[in-house]
Amino acid sequence: MNDAVTIAVLDGDGIGPEVVPVAVEVATRALAAQGRTLIPIRLPYGATAIASHGQAVPAETLEALEEIDLWAVGPHDSASYPPELRSPAPGAVLRKQFGLYANLRPARAHGGVPAVAADVDVLVVRENSEGLYADRNMTIGSGEFMPTPDVAMAVGVITRGACERIAVEAFDAARRRRGHVTIVHKANVLRLTTGLFRDVCFDVAQRYPDVRVDEQHVDAMAALLVRRPGDFDVIVTENLFGDILSDLAGELSGSLGLAPSINTSATQGMAQAVHGAAPDIAGTGTANPVAMIGSVAMLLRWHGLRTSDAAVEAAADAIDGALAHVLADGLATADLGGTVSTGEFGAAVAAHVG
Ligand code: ATP
Ligand code: MG
Repeated sequence: MNDAVTIAVLDGDGIGPEVVPVAVEVATRALAAQGRTLIPIRLPYGATAIASHGQAVPAETLEALEEIDLWAVGPHDSASYPPELRSPAPGAVLRKQFGLYANLRPARAHGGVPAVAADVDVLVVRENSEGLYADRNMTIGSGEFMPTPDVAMAVGVITRGACERIAVEAFDAARRRRGHVTIVHKANVLRLTTGLFRDVCFDVAQRYPDVRVDEQHVDAMAALLVRRPGDFDVIVTENLFGDILSDLAGELSGSLGLAPSINTSATQGMAQAVHGAAPDIAGTGTANPVAMIGSVAMLLRWHGLRTSDAAVEAAADAIDGALAHVLADGLATADLGGTVSTGEFGAAVAAHVG
């Protein structure tokens, strides 16, 4: 069969227009090797969209995304936008508008790249719609407010439904990994909110007798990730804790330029590297494309699993294998101490996906 796979491509700002096309080209080659065609649909987004459409996320982009399940999205550099267009950030608009509630951020060391912790191999499953980041919440407009000029408050929202769906993501992922989930919370202090998160995760755990489950307070988890990273497999947690722990895990595994992620709902997935727009190196052709390429590989694997499409899963595996091969060969962009350009690195990966 040759069912084409359609992907929305939103380059974004800074190094986005350098790393996103490289990742899409690698995916094109990997799918072609499986006899499949990738159809990229480029959509205006970020600073170029402000110039052409007056908005970072134009209505035509949102309309087009409604119809497309898979997206490759570059970083945004809101600080470079006119002040009145800086908020909400474009990435937050997409997550909120489309209810991308699951943020999956793996972190593992790569052969050939120095890592703080060589044995880190974790997947942080971060609830991405609730918690203290209530301005991203689907039901409450803005969670932060100031009742008087001297008092600032924030509302943290945790709902049973959101806890359940993120727990299912985590336990499903654990079955495909090493069969271990650690529930991270702070239920000794935030008893009602993170306590509900904890309880619902343990309820869901009962449906997965084959998966080992334990729990940690978030502060202990941060310390243990540094001390004994090899003890952990899947970490499931609420929004703010997940934001912090995934940065910590990513840093343990090496450079920011290596860390991939996807954001998903039940029906749509967005590949987005963990790093930002890196304006300091934008336009120099030196950006590391590994994070973006890895994010697109994650997205293809998610899609392949969801649609029982073995060829798409095989393409994802081929991309990860090619990345590992090229890194182990010692090919490196400037952030990793090398001299290879973004395009040269991408071409080397593309040459190994077939
Ligand atoms: P944001 O607020 O958008 O997350 P940030 O302040 O976290 O941005 P980044 O844009 O991620 O910052 O950049 C942090 C540092 O890492 C910069 O020095 C940048 O050049 C470097 N960096 C980020 N991504 C890459 C990459 N893919 N390749 C090489 N260097 C990178
Ligand atoms: Mg950042």
